[in-house]
Amino acid sequence: MTISRIEWTEQTWNPTVGCTKLSPGCAHCYAEIMARRLQAMGTKGYENGFEFTLLPKRLNEPILRKKPTIFFVNSMSDLFHEEVPVSYLDQIFDVILRSPQHTFQILTKRATKMSEYFDGKMVPRNAWLGVTVENREHGLPRIEELRKVGASIRFLSVEPLLESLGDIDLTGIHWVIVGGESGPKSRPMKKEWIDQIRLQCDEQEVAFFFKQWGGWGADGIKRAKKQNGRELDGQVWNQVPLKAFGAQYQSTRGGMWQKYTTSGR
Ligand code: SF4
Repeated sequence: MTISRIEWTEQTWNPTVGCTKLSPGCAHCYAEIMARRLQAMGTKGYENGFEFTLLPKRLNEPILRKKPTIFFVNSMSDLFHEEVPVSYLDQIFDVILRSPQHTFQILTKRATKMSEYFDGKMVPRNAWLGVTVENREHGLPRIEELRKVGASIRFLSVEPLLESLGDIDLTGIHWVIVGGESGPKSRPMKKEWIDQIRLQCDEQEVAFFFKQWGGWGADGIKRAKKQNGRELDGQVWNQVPLKAFGAQYQSTRGGMWQKYTTSGR
């Protein structure tokens, strides 16, 4: 487990690492760059570089941690990768079930595999499920799949936002996170694309979180991610779903959620 610099989580837990690219959002995959770097450094777990690899020794890590923590599961992989055996997914969700003190955020681009896996199964209350929506063609159909899954919180990671998403049906969605791409090859994100999403979140009562501009600023100029910051119209958008503050999450009070505002259903 590792402390995360991602704005909307606390720690990462990677019971698998490595992945295979499948849509335009993957073009400059951060996990791939990191995995190759960690392999070159001889870091344990990255012996296969970016090849999809199960790491069963890491399965029990969350159970051993008592302090309530928000985990981003598989920041270095995609949990619903084609090569992950169903029996391994069963073990991961068993760990989640046995760790009620924690919250687990799971984000995938393999939305169909996720909805098929949960068909007829209960999703643990402390598992938030999300899909990446980088464009209309690949991203919007994932929302339909996500809606089929009975998670307590369903979220969208609209990062990297590559084009206008147009009209989005946010029925059954609790949280939308938007961000631009970072890194030397980052693709630009236009402010009007973000405004369209924010407006629809407002109209459909969904929490809106603006993570970052990334490599291109609000003024359309390319510069370092840190310099571009994460303000939109002079404001930081740190909404998290109201439901996240329910009884189940009281234990995280004093933790990261205190600095955020609530919105949505
Ligand atoms: S699905 Fe995620 S981890 Fe896998 S290649 Fe695409 S961006 Fe990288």
